[in-house]
Amino acid sequence: MNHEGSCHCGAICIAIEDDPVDASECNCSICRRTGALWTYRSPRQVAITGVATGYVQGDATLTLWHCATCGVTTHWSPKDPDYDRMGINLRLFDPTVWETLPRRFIDGASW
Ligand SMILES: [Zn+2]
Repeated sequence: MNHEGSCHCGAICIAIEDDPVDASECNCSICRRTGALWTYRSPRQVAITGVATGYVQGDATLTLWHCATCGVTTHWSPKDPDYDRMGINLRLFDPTVWETLPRRFIDGASW
């Protein structure tokens, strides 16, 4: 089933095609601040509309994107174009899509 989510002001919309099976919560220095719940996809399986603002932490290998208007964290993308994986913040979607999913805890703080 196709799901569509957006940031709070609606400037950025993200669509995914299949149902997420779990929701990942990470304790790294950025994720613990944003409170994002992640699902992961190949960038080819994700449609994003609107212009997001990127943030790269130090020598990090990914860009974390947010809406410049409402501030909501929307997704992350790899800086390496050959890395076939990105993260989408499930909190952009209707809670029925993600609230009952099993949570996966990612110990990003230890990496
Ligand atoms: Zn917004």
